[in-house]
Amino acid sequence: MKNYLYFLFVVLIACQPKQKADQELVTVSILPQKYFVDQIAGDLLQVNVLVPPGSSPHNYSILPSQMKDMAKSKVWLQIGLLTFEDALKDKLANINKELSIVNCSAGIDPIAGSECEEEGHDHEHAHHEAYDPHIWLAPAESKIIAQNTFNALKAGFPQHAAVFEANYGQFIAKINSVSTLIEQKLASLTNRNILIFHPTLGYYARQYGLQQTALELDGKEPSPKHMKGIVDLARERNIRVIFIQKEFDVENAQQLAREIGGEVMIIDPLDYDWEKQLQDITDKIAAQK
Ligand SMILES: [Zn+2]
Repeated sequence: MKNYLYFLFVVLIACQPKQKADQELVTVSILPQKYFVDQIAGDLLQVNVLVPPGSSPHNYSILPSQMKDMAKSKVWLQIGLLTFEDALKDKLANINKELSIVNCSAGIDPIAGSECEEEGHDHEHAHHEAYDPHIWLAPAESKIIAQNTFNALKAGFPQHAAVFEANYGQFIAKINSVSTLIEQKLASLTNRNILIFHPTLGYYARQYGLQQTALELDGKEPSPKHMKGIVDLARERNIRVIFIQKEFDVENAQQLAREIGGEVMIIDPLDYDWEKQLQDITDKIAAQK
């Protein structure tokens, strides 16, 4: 009987899923980064996304249940400019000492975050970031994110370096062609203003010579005073489109759209499909008269 039990024990151990699958887990902060990892790693790596769909990456706080995947991850690819990433970094020291934390914004020239402009501003709920974190929404910055991602994956999983290298080359070519397409579509655009609820297109605007104006101030709903300023500006610059991301309440944007005789367009900056989303944003900007 004892031998039989020993035999059973050996069989059970042998049938455990391979440890390897656990090691090949990569964590990213937001969903578009999973697209970047998938482009470079194909299906060689499992990707754990920290901010779930519908949540804001600006004020996210990690659930206790997510710590398990963090503990199993070999690499954490951060955007590098999100405040929740800093807060989490300290907690992780005790949970996963081996974790390689990579700042994907390294090498990017960051745009300064918005300042509090209004009197009596309530700072308690403001999630102010020193720099604009929306770096993945412009091809120029996306190429740097891709490069940082590639280098980190190569260092973390050297056994797959050759595959990563080939895929990375193709991904950079894809980013270049997306960028060329955006340039072509925006070339004849005469009104180069973007009016947007949450300022996600700062880097995009910088790359393609557009002017972004945000309704939201420092992560907060616009005050009546700010709204009036925006209406005046929209009339002055002949802006008739207000961009809003799908997670946000459209009420303010619709009210403003009525006042300027325009319309609200919904974009999805946290979409997994980076290429499709950039094309969609571009088509909507290009459709502005
Ligand atoms: Zn944002």
